[in-house]
Amino acid sequence: MRHPITAQQVKELAAQLDASTRLLTAADGDDYEKIISRWADNAVKRAGAVAVPVSYEEVSKLVKFASNNKLDLAVRGGGHSTGGTSSTEGGLTIDLSGMRAVKVDKDSKLIVAQGGALWEDVDNAAFEKGLATVGGTVNHTGIGGLTLGGGLGWLSGLYGTVVDNLVAAKIVVADGRVLSVSENENTDLFWAIRGAGHNFGVAVEFTFRAYDQTNDVYAGGLVFTPDKLTLLVDGFNTRMKTPNPQATGMFLFAKPPSMPVAVVVANVFYNGDEAAAREYFKFLFDLEPVAVTAKMMPYNHLNALLNPLTTHGRRKALKAVTVTHHIDAAFVQELYNDYAQQVEKNPDMSASILGIEIHDTSKIQSVPLEATAFSNRGSYRPGIVGLEWTDPTMDEENRAWGRMIQAKCRQAVIDSKEFTEDTKTSLEYANYVEPGDLITDTPFGGNQQRLGMLKHKYDPDFMFNKTNPITPLRTELN
Ligand SMILES: Cc1cc2nc3c(=O)[nH]c(=O)nc-3n(C[C@H](O)[C@H](O)[C@H](O)COP(=O)(O)OP(=O)(O)OC[C@H]3O[C@@H](n4cnc5c(N)ncnc54)[C@H](O)[C@@H]3O)c2cc1C
Repeated sequence: MRHPITAQQVKELAAQLDASTRLLTAADGDDYEKIISRWADNAVKRAGAVAVPVSYEEVSKLVKFASNNKLDLAVRGGGHSTGGTSSTEGGLTIDLSGMRAVKVDKDSKLIVAQGGALWEDVDNAAFEKGLATVGGTVNHTGIGGLTLGGGLGWLSGLYGTVVDNLVAAKIVVADGRVLSVSENENTDLFWAIRGAGHNFGVAVEFTFRAYDQTNDVYAGGLVFTPDKLTLLVDGFNTRMKTPNPQATGMFLFAKPPSMPVAVVVANVFYNGDEAAAREYFKFLFDLEPVAVTAKMMPYNHLNALLNPLTTHGRRKALKAVTVTHHIDAAFVQELYNDYAQQVEKNPDMSASILGIEIHDTSKIQSVPLEATAFSNRGSYRPGIVGLEWTDPTMDEENRAWGRMIQAKCRQAVIDSKEFTEDTKTSLEYANYVEPGDLITDTPFGGNQQRLGMLKHKYDPDFMFNKTNPITPLRTELN
């Protein structure tokens, strides 16, 4: 059982912190309201106190204080959780927004970023040195939450997940120690944070491997009327028989106010010139899109492309969905029909999307499942229902609709026999899951048991318990 922070404890904590750490409570008015705000309005909770540290030592003090007093503790990176997992009602929040420094070494091709950095901080600092690493496709998301859950991005076809490119990190664990983790130090914790990291401490620093990225890239959207959906899916299926890791695509359903019906948008990325991109995605151009926004751009503009569609505010929920590797066009048509009906029936949800990502999965699957905690290494295709609405009385109903789609997708993959009871990979991508969503009690698949044992070693009192929580297992580790 974890507790809210009392006024007396706020005083005690303030006395222990140095002057560099801001400590805010509701008495701080607008500054407090600003610091508890989140990407999704429904993820806002009224913390008893919010600390904004700028040093690893101060984070350590805060974690120790929360541990000793059994406080409900939230850690805030970029603040994009829609399930409120970086917020606490009455407890203590460690807000990492004061720790966004990024250093890039061109010679070693390493990026060292503090735990509160956003992807724009990393992308821009690396770009200045002619480098890039795998990162999120919306550059105002936090590197913290995204990395600790695995991390997929436009460069995943080439270089795998974000955690496949994580070389080292510094983690403040539940007893307050600041541990360096890598292939040489605290290797069990290094294994655990690469996919299930939200459960093991506060990541105050990440070191990522980077790659030369000096050429411009081709990226953007192609908009289609819904009658093209089956041909579009067939086209992706054929294209992915001979995938090129330089290219990644996704398609999604959206209902722009200017269109009479829900449309299908293919977002494409090609790490090369326009002629090669158009050749690779010829099947899409041949379908005569009604609009094309894809164009050449410097690499550091790529992850800003979706920003106008993902602005802060309003009520939101993400739901992880999965479809089969060879995408069933008839099933996707059914999903389109569900989506189109829902946004027509409930126009308050019309900014919602339903999308399927199409990576070349070879690189991700080349890493054995047991090599890291990240367990979404199946060949099936990750997707997302991005729900958005304004009416607070509809929170549960709208989420329930998303969960219905989630369950339907899961069942379709199970029926296809691509996923069985014995499959050790997990289906829904952990970073798109909200509390209450999971239709499995082992979100980490074949890695679940080892994670339970490591949880007992590093966080036996279950302090880091908000994202895909892992129950400590009191079994001895070998
Ligand atoms: C618009 C949008 C786009 C997205 N795009 C992608 C994408 O391209 N690829 C992808 O893989 N995922 C993507 N996601 C999902 C994303 O990975 C998760 O939502 C992630 O949790 C966001 O991290 P954050 O730091 O911004 O969130 P927060 O709300 O701050 O944190 C989420 C969880 O991570 C924990 N956390 C955050 N930072 C730290 C830290 N430094 N140490 C310890 N715990 C920490 C929090 O405590 C919380 O449990 C996207 C999400 C959104 C909303």
